[in-house]
Amino acid sequence: MRIADKFNKGRVVFSLEVFPPKKESGVETIYNTLEQLSDIKPDYISVTYGAGGNGGVQQSCEIAANIKLKYGIEPVSHLTCVNNTKDEIIKVLADFKTKGIQNLLALRGDINPDIPRKTDFVYASDLVSFVKTYDKSFGVAGACYPEVHMEAKNEVDDIFNLKKKVDAGADNLVSQLFFDNEVFYRFIERAKIAGINVPIQAGIMPVTNKKQIERMVSMCGASFPSKFSRVIQRYGDNPQALRDAGIAYAVDQIVDLIANGVDGIHLYTMNNPYVAKTIAKSIEKLL
Ligand code: FAD
Repeated sequence: MRIADKFNKGRVVFSLEVFPPKKESGVETIYNTLEQLSDIKPDYISVTYGAGGNGGVQQSCEIAANIKLKYGIEPVSHLTCVNNTKDEIIKVLADFKTKGIQNLLALRGDINPDIPRKTDFVYASDLVSFVKTYDKSFGVAGACYPEVHMEAKNEVDDIFNLKKKVDAGADNLVSQLFFDNEVFYRFIERAKIAGINVPIQAGIMPVTNKKQIERMVSMCGASFPSKFSRVIQRYGDNPQALRDAGIAYAVDQIVDLIANGVDGIHLYTMNNPYVAKTIAKSIEKLL
């Protein structure tokens, strides 16, 4: 089933994101995680990989295929294009097809200055239109940035670029994580004004450890509202308290988003089933 068909059914789409295990962890760790996450019965589970890594998409595709086979949950494979030629993308799409993966999240990927860039695809919208022309039956989602993508000139340019991605055929959008719902609501307003009418899921990341917070700031420039900073200040040095406070903060964000009519919630699980299950349990009656 295409993910876009899950929206507009009078309920909020709820999905999870996982990443492939680090080399040193062993592949079985992700299946232990998925086994537990499958109890949540999310609308779909998406699988990431690093655009710069070798063989990343193959591993991610393998995990996505197993999400469908083992747990009967719709998978979404992330697909980056910054380091790929069209021929390479065609091979990956054929692999998706063979493995029963119907949905993908089309991304440009982060540019790694140490890897010479391939030039077949410049922006994610190039990949979106390529996939849609290659095979219309794929459901294609795109990424969006409530706090504006780090490389964009300004918020107006970024939203026009997002409109290009939707015009290229993106069926639905998934947002970068954010901690301030007001930022998301302003972004939704800009998207509406720009004529972006596809469903937009809010990306929520429960912050449950201090290292994660530092990474967040350096990688995606997420801003911290004072309410959130106070949580970190108070519980930053107490791992268990920070975990519980991070869960509570995420639940609070989700409740507010649902009350304000959000299309969907995409939970960045960080492969932590306890955190994901606790949040899912708290909001199951709200979806
Ligand atoms: P684009 O949509 O191409 O945008 C990149 C920049 O180019 C933006 O500044 C945009 O404003 C600008 N732009 C876009 N189109 C045009 C145009 N036509 N003309 C001029 N400027 C334009 N990375 C991974 O490596 N692996 C993953 O699995 C992964 N998963 C992600 C999941 C989500 C939900 C999100 C939000 C991000 C994810 N990323 C992942 C990170 C992503 O690859 C980076 O943020 C990357 O820098 C941009 O990717 P994009 O697809 O948003 O690019």
